[in-house]
Amino acid sequence: MLTILDKDIKFLPGVGPKRAQILNKELELYTFRDLLYYFPYKYIDRTKVYTVRQVNGHMQHIQLKGKITRIEEIGEARKKRMVAYFSDGTGVMELVWFQGIKWVKPTLRLNHEYIVFGKPTIFGGKVNMAHPELEDAVQSEGAKLGYLQGQYHTTEKMKRSFITSKVIHTIQRTLVGQFKGKLMETLPAHIIQKAKLCGIEDALLNAHFPKNPEMLRKAQYRLKFEELFYIQLKILSMKTARNRKFKGHEFSHIGYNFNTFYSDFIPFELTGAQKRVLREIRKDVGSGRQMNRLVQGDVGSGKTLVALMCVLMAIDNGSQSCLMAPTEILANQHAASIQKMLRGMPVKVGLLTGSTKAKERRKLHEQLLSGELNLLVGTHALIEDSVVFKNLGLVVVDEQHRFGVAQRAKLWKKNTIPPHVLVMTATPIPRTLAMTIYGDLDVSVIDELPPGRKPIKTMHFFENKRRDVLEFIRKQITEGRQAYIVYPLIQESEKMDYKNLEEGYANILKAFPEPQYKVSMVHGKMKAAEKDQEMQEFAAGKTQIMVATTVIEVGVDVPNASVMIIESSEKFGLSQLHQLRGRVGRGGTQSYCILMSDYKVGENSRKRLDTMVRSTDGFEIAEFDLKLRGPGDLEGTQQSGMAIDLKIANLTRDGQILQYARDLAEQILEEDPALDNDSHAVLKEQLKAMRKTKFNWSSIS
Ligand code: ADP
Ligand code: MG
Repeated sequence: MLTILDKDIKFLPGVGPKRAQILNKELELYTFRDLLYYFPYKYIDRTKVYTVRQVNGHMQHIQLKGKITRIEEIGEARKKRMVAYFSDGTGVMELVWFQGIKWVKPTLRLNHEYIVFGKPTIFGGKVNMAHPELEDAVQSEGAKLGYLQGQYHTTEKMKRSFITSKVIHTIQRTLVGQFKGKLMETLPAHIIQKAKLCGIEDALLNAHFPKNPEMLRKAQYRLKFEELFYIQLKILSMKTARNRKFKGHEFSHIGYNFNTFYSDFIPFELTGAQKRVLREIRKDVGSGRQMNRLVQGDVGSGKTLVALMCVLMAIDNGSQSCLMAPTEILANQHAASIQKMLRGMPVKVGLLTGSTKAKERRKLHEQLLSGELNLLVGTHALIEDSVVFKNLGLVVVDEQHRFGVAQRAKLWKKNTIPPHVLVMTATPIPRTLAMTIYGDLDVSVIDELPPGRKPIKTMHFFENKRRDVLEFIRKQITEGRQAYIVYPLIQESEKMDYKNLEEGYANILKAFPEPQYKVSMVHGKMKAAEKDQEMQEFAAGKTQIMVATTVIEVGVDVPNASVMIIESSEKFGLSQLHQLRGRVGRGGTQSYCILMSDYKVGENSRKRLDTMVRSTDGFEIAEFDLKLRGPGDLEGTQQSGMAIDLKIANLTRDGQILQYARDLAEQILEEDPALDNDSHAVLKEQLKAMRKTKFNWSSIS
């Protein structure tokens, strides 16, 4: 059903085709609705009228009410300015124009009552206001006076076409006049009541033209709630639908493999957090529904072990599993360490990557089809169509943010009954973001490190400390430890980056000469086999230093490494720095992370480095990252395939509203999963309308 809100903005008086074109292009505003949901980014308090006598030099924008008594033009040509003397009975203020004099002058009327608006300055004892806005006091009365005035973002192009914030303000006023009394409520009455919200018309009206700060707050709350509520309702209803549609493999019993591994093979006690997450997983996979679970846990928290135990659960229930890693190095490492842990158990593990030879590949395919292979570890190669399982019951995806949605979806189709999906990520995501990006996944958190881990000591140094740093590495090597030295790799300047890496490598070779020292190097341009060779040597302790680009970022496990040097650390994002740091501190002894940087460091870089020095808590770092960058830019959001396009809510600030909205959405779906209830008709309609907009969800299905 088309409503007035679906009309093209070019039909709105005050807009017209030319302005409409600019608004289309610059702000992607096409319909009345788009315009109506284009909200001010801030509000200027126009509830108070100051007097000239009250003015001091520290005021922001204020308004005063009075009359212009005299107008003068001073100076010649380019230095010309116009001064209007404004008096309100308490004093005189000089209104000054340097530009546009010939347009402004004819509009000014002497001895007429105006509201002037602008930022006052005091210069040589005189009160000035440059380029003030003027309004007829009589017209302002009741209209704008006593309002908070919204300020709208505009672009350069808009300003050049004279579409200023004030113009948008005027257009909004026309728009509001058109729909007054005609808007349909967009939330069910019982939600409005329960959440104590104002009506939609009131909300929209006060978002643009707040009657007072209290009404503005109410309006914003309502609109934020609604925005977040519908996102959550959408995500959760997809999840509900999926649960109703698909049956899952039921892993009903805990059998030989799981029990034997648990009691005889793990050389340590599981942490409380690992046990809890395993319980959560067992509940899922035992329910007969398909599991979609995200396991978040800091680097080294023992996610891989948890995943392996799920694999054993699958085997005990007659299902095959696969484990997908983002890089070949990681896949190799996973396969090797899993094979090592399982040595002596009747579990057959295979490895499939881009480098697997055709002959080996064929053998793997056969073993998968016959069911002989229990677990296939690999990279993207796993999702090729030629890879067919006999009975795939569990998919583990490691370091999920490297995998696109489409790739995960492909894995899904590998079985008639969709396999359980366990996504593991070491990138801690702030809760609010997790609820949105991974809202359709259940989330488990391993928030505890294995006992005995010492927090990594982190320091930030400039070039002048380089000798000390080299000396420090030497000392650690003498004590039998190993060190990473990592260089940033930034796509745009690939050549430069490799130059830095090569230079760094040469310098390290000079400082750590053979035969006493051996240095490995790994970078993205090397062949997989070469990389692997170098990694293996470092992992085996044959080399003491690993010089690398960020290819080692994810998951690589060399417990003997105790030093992580990050070169040009100011160029890395926070979550990347945290990931890199997580490569050390995996054994029992003290480890160190040294952030080298340029002397000149931008403000945000500085904050990132300070955060790293101060905190080792991945979640705290992630929260801080969100604050620094804003949610749209957070790592993982692009890859996850979901653009978060919020018009009014803010994931950094509105976490509480989000949680509340999600809780309510959950309750509603619990009572009425398909939203068939009459009172929920409006919910269904709104969800349908959302589907038409360009939402792009990170759904596995
Ligand atoms: P993650 O994948 O979360 O980074 P891993 O599963 O690779 O962590 O575990 C990191 C290291 O800690 C591995 O060497 C693993 O064997 C070890 N580990 C895992 N769980 C425990 C535990 N409960 N107690 C002691 N060590 C553990
Ligand atoms: Mg891992």
